[in-house]
Amino acid sequence: MGRAFVYVILGGGVAAGYAALEFTKRGLSPGELCIISEEPVVPYERPALSKGFLLPEDPARLPSFHTCVGANEERLTPKWYNEHGIELVLGTQVKSADLRRKTLLTAMGETISYKILIIATGAQALKLEEFGLNASDCDNVCYLRDLANATRLVDVMKSCPGGNAVVIGGGYLGMECAASLVINKITVTMVFPEAHCMARLFTPKIASYYEDYYTSKGVKFVKETVLSSFDIDSDGKVTGVNLRDGSWLPADMVVVGIGIRPNTSLFEGQLTLEKGGIKVNGQMQSSNSSVYAVGDVAAFPVQLFGEIRRLEHVDLARKSARHAVAAIMDPNKTEDFDYLPFFYSRVFTLSWQFYGDCVGDVVHFGDFLGNTFGAYWVNKGQLVGSFLEGGTKEEVEAIAKATRLKPTIEDLAELERRGLGFALTI
Ligand code: FAD
Ligand code: NDP
Repeated sequence: MGRAFVYVILGGGVAAGYAALEFTKRGLSPGELCIISEEPVVPYERPALSKGFLLPEDPARLPSFHTCVGANEERLTPKWYNEHGIELVLGTQVKSADLRRKTLLTAMGETISYKILIIATGAQALKLEEFGLNASDCDNVCYLRDLANATRLVDVMKSCPGGNAVVIGGGYLGMECAASLVINKITVTMVFPEAHCMARLFTPKIASYYEDYYTSKGVKFVKETVLSSFDIDSDGKVTGVNLRDGSWLPADMVVVGIGIRPNTSLFEGQLTLEKGGIKVNGQMQSSNSSVYAVGDVAAFPVQLFGEIRRLEHVDLARKSARHAVAAIMDPNKTEDFDYLPFFYSRVFTLSWQFYGDCVGDVVHFGDFLGNTFGAYWVNKGQLVGSFLEGGTKEEVEAIAKATRLKPTIEDLAELERRGLGFALTI
């Protein structure tokens, strides 16, 4: 049994939704496109899961955050896909891919063939088991990657009102979940191996601002240590967390955010991989010319840095997906992808944006005791990265533009003196 399509998108996450919209804008015909997704729902804005979805009052629920509302575009409901003749194969995992035959085999035993394949399989959460701890099956241990995880997290949170949560990991997920748990009146302790939160991006000075803010909200930080074991009761629930530094934390629930692994396994041995992802060129085309890769799973050339990178953020998922579709449908008019990396987060009433690369010397600016501050990164005499907390729309656009222009910086002290004014006047 089998079906054939001109275009198949494997994966039904953020990138798939934005690719679908772009296909329709460029003249897709009914019956040409199929989206296969393990998730039972049409693409949605995944960032909502650690923010609006976890709010105690009036939480975000589907269908309100289907793609592409995150980019102020049309909200693509199941009806929209139907009206555009886009075939949805949902709740269905693809078990194997034969790129020579141009076929995908689903867990239901169906063979779906394509002329052009877009891989948008995203990533999966790293499990505690990879660090030698068998606890992922415990009722109150939560991961957060998809809607099912988020629904479960809300249920677990509601099962222990006013209780204690241990958040493992001081990255994006740990920080956003900790804030959401606090808003739900859960007492939070964050545990991570580094000296400060968001260690791959934040400087110690930036991190200390957020840590102080979280502390003022009641969050405790246990740094530079990792889990050694869990106390698990006879009902299979974690009741306490033992840390390698010898300390013990009470736990009514545990949230784990210790990074992800891109879903590349179907393509190992068939496509060139790099940086843990599927290597693509500036057209998002892989080592097989009929296969494109976008979003978290793609390792692509970042022209600005002159190197291949894999980025795990929603802006890249949206833009790389659109670029791949442009390259597929209008190959002669589509230049190579020229992407300015963009990361952001919103927690409590705080909101920060980062553009570029966080390498080289750092120059901080602004009021670290107030609401607006930031930093520039200067590498080899050029501005390569900019961070801003609490900026206005115009200020955020200014740091983006300045980072894109990569201006020469001769005097770090002068840059520090000019602060945000430097970006605003460039
Ligand atoms: P995904 O959105 O993960 O979609 C992958 C899809 O492929 C899924 O539907 C999956 O089920 C499906 N799939 C995988 N393998 C198979 C298979 N074999 N068969 C069938 N289907 C398959 N980024 C930001 O920049 N800002 C944020 O604030 C932010 N918040 C986030 C909050 C959370 C809770 C999470 C988990 C991520 C967040 N991100 C954020 C990251 C952002 O969501 C991702 O970068 C983005 O979703 C990547 O899009 P994607 O389409 O590549 O992958
Ligand atoms: P991150 O990679 O951001 O952070 C993982 C954190 O866990 C790091 O602090 C890491 O430390 C730490 N860690 C690793 N191993 C252990 C361990 N054994 N015990 C304790 N801590 C450990 O991933 P997240 O899980 O936070 O986020 C998952 C994905 O979701 C990412 O792709 C992220 O980009 C995305 N996301 C993005 C958001 C945003 O952009 N606003 C919001 C939420 C999620 P180390 O650095 O030393 O490895």
